Amino acid sequence: MNDCLFCGITGGKVKGNIVYQDDSVVAFKDIKPRAPVHILIIPRKHIPTLLDLEPADGPLIGAIFFAAAKLAQEHGIAENGYRIVVNCGADAGQTVFHLHYHLLGGRHMGWPPG
Ligand code: 5GP
Ligand code: ZN
Repeated sequence: MNDCLFCGITGGKVKGNIVYQDDSVVAFKDIKPRAPVHILIIPRKHIPTLLDLEPADGPLIGAIFFAAAKLAQEHGIAENGYRIVVNCGADAGQTVFHLHYHLLGGRHMGWPPG
């Protein structure tokens, strides 16, 4: 997916502040953090949105949540709490069409989200 920004980061073509990576998942700091800790966790596989997931992607999604828990511990937000957000489509405000999980923490968060 040559013109995908996040494929550029997973492939090393675009500079990303990578904090975790394994065979299937890459995590890097958001360029415009909305909380003291704001990390994006993405599959290496190019999946545009949540709507494009297939049953075979189940283990991949599990791997993303395991990475999130590990990152939350490492970045000191596990104890006080954190939020994982996936924006899907226009109303949710999705701007990059490579599936990504926002890991947010380090401050109190309001509910419902804006
Ligand atoms: P979305 O709005 O699609 O849910 O989230 C896209 C996220 O990607 C935003 O939080 C935005 O700040 C982040 N982002 C956009 N471009 C870049 C980039 O080049 N590098 C990094 N690290 N994050 C980016
Ligand atoms: Zn991509």
